Amino acid sequence: MSQPLFNKVAFIGLGLIGSSLARVIIAENLAKQIVASTRSVKTLEDAKALGIISEGYSNPVDAVKDSDLIVLALPVRATQKILETIQHHILPNAIITDVGSTKGNVVEAAHAVYGAELPIGFVPGHPIAGAEHTGVHAGKVDLFANHKVILTPLPTSAPWAVEKLIRLWQAAKAEVICMDVEKHDEVLAHTSHLPHLMAFNLVEQLANREDNLDIFRYAAGGFRDFSRIAASDPQMWHDIFFANKKAILNAVDGFEQQLAQIRHLIETEDSNALMGLLGHAQAARQHFNHMLAKKPLMEKNNVTQQFTIQPGPKSFQGKFSVPGDKSVSHRSIMFGAIAEGTTHVTGFLEGEDALATLQAFRDMGVNIEGPKNGEVTIHGVGMHGLKAPKGELYMGNSGTSMRLLSGMLSAQKFDSVMTGDASLSKRPMERIAKPLRQMGAQIQTTGERGTPPVSITGNQNLQGIHYDLPMASAQVKSGILLAGLWAQGETSVTEPEPTRDHSERMLRAFGYEVKTEGNRISLQGGGKLVGTNIQVPSDISSAAFFMVGAAITEGSDVTLEAVGINPTRTGVIEILKQMGADLSVENERIAGGEPIADIRIKGSRTLKGIHMPEDQVPLAIDEFPALFIAAACAEGQTILTGAAELRVKESDRIQVMADGLKIMGIDCTPTDDGIIIEGKGKSGEWGAIFNGGEIESHHDHRIAMSFSMAGLRTSGEIKIVGTETVATSFPTFTQLSEQAGLNIQVSEA
Ligand code: NAP
Repeated sequence: MSQPLFNKVAFIGLGLIGSSLARVIIAENLAKQIVASTRSVKTLEDAKALGIISEGYSNPVDAVKDSDLIVLALPVRATQKILETIQHHILPNAIITDVGSTKGNVVEAAHAVYGAELPIGFVPGHPIAGAEHTGVHAGKVDLFANHKVILTPLPTSAPWAVEKLIRLWQAAKAEVICMDVEKHDEVLAHTSHLPHLMAFNLVEQLANREDNLDIFRYAAGGFRDFSRIAASDPQMWHDIFFANKKAILNAVDGFEQQLAQIRHLIETEDSNALMGLLGHAQAARQHFNHMLAKKPLMEKNNVTQQFTIQPGPKSFQGKFSVPGDKSVSHRSIMFGAIAEGTTHVTGFLEGEDALATLQAFRDMGVNIEGPKNGEVTIHGVGMHGLKAPKGELYMGNSGTSMRLLSGMLSAQKFDSVMTGDASLSKRPMERIAKPLRQMGAQIQTTGERGTPPVSITGNQNLQGIHYDLPMASAQVKSGILLAGLWAQGETSVTEPEPTRDHSERMLRAFGYEVKTEGNRISLQGGGKLVGTNIQVPSDISSAAFFMVGAAITEGSDVTLEAVGINPTRTGVIEILKQMGADLSVENERIAGGEPIADIRIKGSRTLKGIHMPEDQVPLAIDEFPALFIAAACAEGQTILTGAAELRVKESDRIQVMADGLKIMGIDCTPTDDGIIIEGKGKSGEWGAIFNGGEIESHHDHRIAMSFSMAGLRTSGEIKIVGTETVATSFPTFTQLSEQAGLNIQVSEA
């Protein structure tokens, strides 16, 4: 058996937090011995009876003797006295940590005892977790699970000590973050201390009214929610407010200013500005919802949602409107923001990716109303009206936002930094940074291997260039063209294969001239965009899952309404037709510069395997995961080549799909730029193709939705883990697929 992490752990203070950590240490077998010292003998006796400690001491000196980990889990104000008492009795390499809610004063207390040179094992910490009750009986082994723990290593802290504490808290299933002491106190002042102060204050304000009884009796849910935290321990908050005085006063000042602003807007009945403020706040809350959620969404090993699909009634029927096109939704906000005048958008995709773009422009001072039922109104600020964002621009999971904005931000007068979630942080950004640098942009990809964060120094002197795109990427093309709007002279791009031309079409719809001559696209810098109305077509990439679902299911009949059939996106239609699908494109029309149509697809004949045409690859790039499911159900072999791009999407889609297909009993071979899939279909037979099994989606929405469709031809249950990202592009996916006949259930892990 491996050695426990610690030999002897001493807790000084053993209430809610201390005893919870002690319970983790026991459960995970992290120490040979746990002892404690508390104020009262009763706590020590109780802790012994509960089996949490082997020995308890009234004198902390006795507890810390020979301990290699000392945890101060008592009120912060007692820190200095305890450190003075134990100072000369601890092992030279003992790790000393604490759990206090403020950090500046803990470090001050340590300096008061030790002088300038603190012990190398001293690493302050703060678990962001609590409960209504305190004391040794209130502790729980899972108190910290899925919560954050902040460590604030000091310049004197030894890396091995920090490393061991990280392992300790990770064993408690917490997410460990390291930051410096000042940052901790400032962040907590805003996110925890100010809200508590406001809650106490509001309850006090209402309690002082003469009619307070009535007010509390009739209090609405809003009051209950808002004031819940005012039931916390007054002594603790008293201590925290004094301990973090400077940062809290700053936060209170900010609050007062904001309050004065909203007061003024109400007093002067400034409807537009009030709507702008409320809408901005609401969107910010929604956008950061997943960050505020207790469980981090995108991190590996922290899967929060899964789909379970049972083999079930084999029918797939109905007429559906899938959500708006993601690419068009992104661009409607970007171009509306830099246009002159107002832009109205309908059919906007209210998924997290497009909302990330919307939030970014709000952060740059653009007043945007909505989205409400897919409608958004953008009050454009013109080509030179964007303002410096106050902080980093968070792009969530959206590669489109980050690459297109790289172009736009490179040409602004202000500096900016773009960050993203775990998945976006692994995606290549040098491919856009490189051509932008040739235009004079000062842009850095500060992650490892040319990945985010992307850091940009504002520069208003970009030069137009000609760029031969080494890869067929609409995002890189668009990023360059967007920088070109502000650049001197002509900016042009030649693409190896035609890619999505939504940027070109929409720029034209906004009155900006863009030339397309064969594979060469060009525009002149220095023009302007004029606000317009944009109807976002339904997303063919979302429709593709239903198209495949219908094509592989006997007797199915599905119509997808008002789907965008921009010729740069219709590869999936062409490929499914070549595979023999019974598919018709009906009622073709134009909306907002983009061609749309209803697509009807029936399950009337078995698909056949094909060598997928390489010229269709860029036109179906996002649809391959779904097409692989179709290929598995087809008769004969399907070969895909020329699709290396798939390896750098939200996940390595070739490998991840191959892994999943193999689990479900499909013979396939991934190659450098594609895959070979041995279809199991037989002409005229509609039985099960897949075995079922557990699929890891790698937080890739399209992987998750593709394997869901395999549920229409499975003999066993399919479990797909990590499906929360489906909301980024298709928030109504499970609802619509269930309506169509798929036996799908969503559960939180
Ligand atoms: P708790 O349940 O009240 O436990 C406090 C412990 O400290 C008790 O064992 C108490 O001894 C001991 N203690 C109190 N004053 C002492 C003194 N002067 N000398 C020696 N021991 C003393 O409190 P807690 O919730 O665990 O909080 C402990 C620390 O965690 C605090 O610094 C707090 O800021 C921090 N924290 C709390 C929360 C939360 O939500 N509760 C969250 C994050 C961090 P007796 O048992 O003998 O009274």
